[in-house]
Amino acid sequence: MRNNLELYVHIPFCVKKCGYCDFLSFSCDEHTQGKYADALMREIKAYGARMKDYTVSTIYIGGGTPSWLDENKMSEILDTVYTSFQVSKEAEVSMECNPGTVTAAKLEQYRMAGINRLSIGLQSADNEELKILGRIHTFEQFVKTYELARNAGFSNINVDLINGIPYQTCDKFLRTLQKVVRLKPNHISAYSLIIEKGTPFYERYKSDALKQEAGMPTDVLPTEEEVCRIYKMTQEYLDKAGYIQYEISNFAQPGYECIHNIGYWTRENYLGLGLGAASLIENVRYANTADLYEYMKEPAKNRTADEISRKAQMEEFMFLGLRMKEGVTRERFFREFGIPIDGIYHAALEKLKAEGMLMIREGRIALSEKGADLSNYVLAQFLID
Ligand code: SF4
Repeated sequence: MRNNLELYVHIPFCVKKCGYCDFLSFSCDEHTQGKYADALMREIKAYGARMKDYTVSTIYIGGGTPSWLDENKMSEILDTVYTSFQVSKEAEVSMECNPGTVTAAKLEQYRMAGINRLSIGLQSADNEELKILGRIHTFEQFVKTYELARNAGFSNINVDLINGIPYQTCDKFLRTLQKVVRLKPNHISAYSLIIEKGTPFYERYKSDALKQEAGMPTDVLPTEEEVCRIYKMTQEYLDKAGYIQYEISNFAQPGYECIHNIGYWTRENYLGLGLGAASLIENVRYANTADLYEYMKEPAKNRTADEISRKAQMEEFMFLGLRMKEGVTRERFFREFGIPIDGIYHAALEKLKAEGMLMIREGRIALSEKGADLSNYVLAQFLID
C-alpha cells in the first residue's frame, strides 16, 4: 500500500525583511539563490529515492518569497519533484507569492510548471498599515498581481491577511476585508499579528503587547477587546460573503479549502525540503539545518530527528484537530492510538462539555462558539500530565 505524503519546499529569500517576521528568510544575491536552488534539487532527488513507498498528494512552496526566485529555477525545482517522487495527478500544488515580484510571463510559467494554487501575501489593504508592517508593496500593486494571476488562468487563489496591526480598529480591518472580498479570492487566511521575540516589532511594541495580553489599555496595538471584535466581525463578514470558516484563521469558498494545511492539522506525513524545513514522518519529527552554507554543502544531511512520544501525539491530535471547524472524530482517535478517546480524555471532555465549550455529536468533537473564543483555555485541558 502507498502512503500519503505532503511536500513542503522552502525558499528562504525575501527582497526585504518585514518588521514583524520571524520566518527563516533573508535577502540575498541572485548567484546564491541559484546555488541554493541547485542544492535543493540535490536534496529533492535524495529524498525521492528514499521515499519510493509514498504518493505525494500536495506540494506547498513557501518562504520567504518563492516568487522572487528566477522562474526557470522554479520550473527546474518542480520538474525535479515530479521526476523524483510519485506525485498524484490531482495534487494540489501551491506557491506563495508577494505583490511586486511577479510578471505575466512568470505567472504563465508557474502554471506550465504545474502550480495550480497561488497564495498572495497582502496582509492589509491600507497602505499606511503596509508601511507599518514594512511590506514592499502597496494595495494597488497587490490588485495588479491578483489580476495578472487571474489572467494567467489561476482559478484557486488565497489572500493572506493580518489583523491586530498597530493603530488598527475593527472598522479599518473591515475596509480591508471589503476591498479583498470585492476581488472574490477563493480562500482568505486572516491571522492575528503576534509580536515575536527577535523581530524589530518586538523591540518596538513588546511592552504594548504585554498590556494587550493582560487586557489593559494599550498605546498603539489594538486592545485585547478590539482584537476580539475584529475576529468576530471577520467571521460574520466572511460568512455573509460566502466563505466557510474551516479553521480558526482560514476561510474558503466551498471546495477551496487548502488540502495541504488540512493534512498538517490532521497529522498527515509531511516532508519539508530546503533550509530549516521541518518534517513529520511516521511520528518522527525531523528538522533541516538552518545554516545556509552548511545546507548548501550537504543538503540531504544535517537533519535532527525527534521521536514524538505517544502522549505528545495524542495532545497534538487534539490541539491541531480542534483548530478545525470539523474538529476530531472518535473513530480516527481510535484508529491512530488503538484506544477510545474517553479512555484518555473522559474527564476533560465531560468538563468542557458541561462548560459549553465543546459540541459532541455523532462521534465528532468540535469547539463550540464559546470554546473557539476561549480556545487557549480549551486546548490546555488536553495536556496529559
Ligand atoms: S515577505 Fe513574508 S517571509 Fe518575507 S520577510 Fe515579509 S513576512 Fe517574512
